Amino acid sequence: MFIGKNTGMHLVITGAPGTGKGTQAGVLKRKFGLCHLSAGEMLREEIRKGTSIGKKLEPLLAEGNFVPDDMIIEMVANRIEEPDCANGFILDGFPRTLHQAEVLDAMLTDEGIELDAVLEILVPDEVIVERILGRYTCVTCGESYSDKFHKPKVDGICDACGGKKFSKRLDDTKATIERRLDKYRNFTYPTIAYYRQRGILRSIDGNGEVDVVAERIYKALNINNIL
Ligand SMILES: [Zn+2]
Repeated sequence: MFIGKNTGMHLVITGAPGTGKGTQAGVLKRKFGLCHLSAGEMLREEIRKGTSIGKKLEPLLAEGNFVPDDMIIEMVANRIEEPDCANGFILDGFPRTLHQAEVLDAMLTDEGIELDAVLEILVPDEVIVERILGRYTCVTCGESYSDKFHKPKVDGICDACGGKKFSKRLDDTKATIERRLDKYRNFTYPTIAYYRQRGILRSIDGNGEVDVVAERIYKALNINNIL
C-alpha cells in the first residue's frame, strides 16, 4: 500500500505553525532517506540559484504577493526528479489550499506517483502558543531552540556552532499566533477533508516529545515491520 507506482514513500505533512511538523519531516527524512521538500525552503533555493522560476519569484515575493499555484507545482515537479528524491519525498507546507491539492494530484498522476499518506499533526492551540512564544534561534547558524522543549545543552551556547547570540521572531506574539492559526484553519482544512475522503489522511497526536510523536507516525503509517 505504501509503495507508489514508482518506488519509494511519498508523503505530505501538514499542521498549523508550531505543531512540530518540520521537525517530524526531518526525522522521516533521516529514517527513510526521503527528501524533505519545504515549500518556503524551495522558494528561497530557486531565488538563490537564480533559476528561471527564481527570477519570476523574486519580484513577486518582494512585493508581498502570493506565489501562483502553477509556479509552485512546476518547482515541486522539477525538484522530485532530482537524485536525492529517489527514495521518495515528504512535502512540508504544501499544499495549503484545496486548489493546490488538486493541482498537485494532477501533476503526481502525470508523473506516475501516488501519495501514500498525508500526515496531519494535531496539537492543542494553547500548547502551540506556548511553544511558539518559547522559540528562539541561533543568530550565527539558524539552529532553533525552545525554552521548554529544546534548550541548548550548555545554557546560552548554541549546540550546533557554539554561537552565543540568539534571536526571537518579533511577530511571535499571542495575537499574531492566533491569527496565523485561524488562517491555517480557513485555508487548509478543506485539504484535510479532501485527503480524508480519499482515505489517505493519518491524524497524529503531536503533543509530546519528538521521539514519541515519531513513533505515533510510524504506527499510523503501519510500517513497523520494515523498520
Ligand atoms: Zn548556532
